Amino acid sequence: MNNIEVLAAYLVIGLSASVALSVIAVKAKVIRRGAVPQSVLVGTLVTLSGLPSVLLFILFLLYATIVTRLGKEPKIKLGVAYDLEGRGARQVAAVGFTPSVMAMVSAATYAVGLAAVAKIFLISYVASLAATSADTWASEIGVLSRSNPFLVTMPKAKVTPGTSGAVTLLGELSSLAGSAAIALTYLALAAAFNHSPNWVKFNWTTVNPTIQVVLLVFALGYLGEVLDSLLGALTQPKYYCDRCGMVTEQEVHTCGGRARLIYEPRIKLSNEDVNLLTSLIVAITTVLVTLAFSHLLG
Ligand SMILES: [Zn+2]
Repeated sequence: MNNIEVLAAYLVIGLSASVALSVIAVKAKVIRRGAVPQSVLVGTLVTLSGLPSVLLFILFLLYATIVTRLGKEPKIKLGVAYDLEGRGARQVAAVGFTPSVMAMVSAATYAVGLAAVAKIFLISYVASLAATSADTWASEIGVLSRSNPFLVTMPKAKVTPGTSGAVTLLGELSSLAGSAAIALTYLALAAAFNHSPNWVKFNWTTVNPTIQVVLLVFALGYLGEVLDSLLGALTQPKYYCDRCGMVTEQEVHTCGGRARLIYEPRIKLSNEDVNLLTSLIVAITTVLVTLAFSHLLG
């Protein structure tokens, strides 16, 4: 089989497997019913990029599901347990769009013989997953922190846990761990598939995950989470609950009291918009950095 035929085979396999897995994901409450079309599209595009890309994506989802399910009781109490019902269509699109497009571009450029370009977009695929992973771990574990979170934009104010842009030390450490988990899984998969036939590892044939590449993915993943917090703090309205003396993003605070508007962003973005924007910026930055420093990355 030539590479174009392998790509076509992966398209057929990807489409059928994504339909099957999306149905299972709905049953397992990983995604909601309405998110199936987005999930099928993301799954199909990722599959084009070969078995290691699929495994990396599945492990990314598995880690995210585990951290989401940590501390279920306190999350329900804080009113941030929304994700326990599964990710909605907009969330799946926000999480899956950037990495799946990077995977698709990498696979397509590899199939037509542009191995050097394929390599850059594959690293970008991994980095955008690392950024999303860092953000998911930071918010899902950080919200369980016993110390008070603070806003980068209002460091002195007391903030309700779960507020967009709220940071805690635990959250930042979790973010580093979430990015490292993807960088190390990438390293492990590249090693595991090193000797497999080309049609199995497909565009991963181009990667040689040197320590520099792994560190780059790790660093950009973490910086993505920092950017996500900053954008979250800047682009979402903030309210103040006089009863608790706390900043919140809900008009009605978790205590039941009415909160007053203290910050109105000039540009309002939803959490999903911020996630999508962040992963796009991380993906583009990865492409530029990889191009500029290709001689250092090996
Ligand atoms: Zn309150």
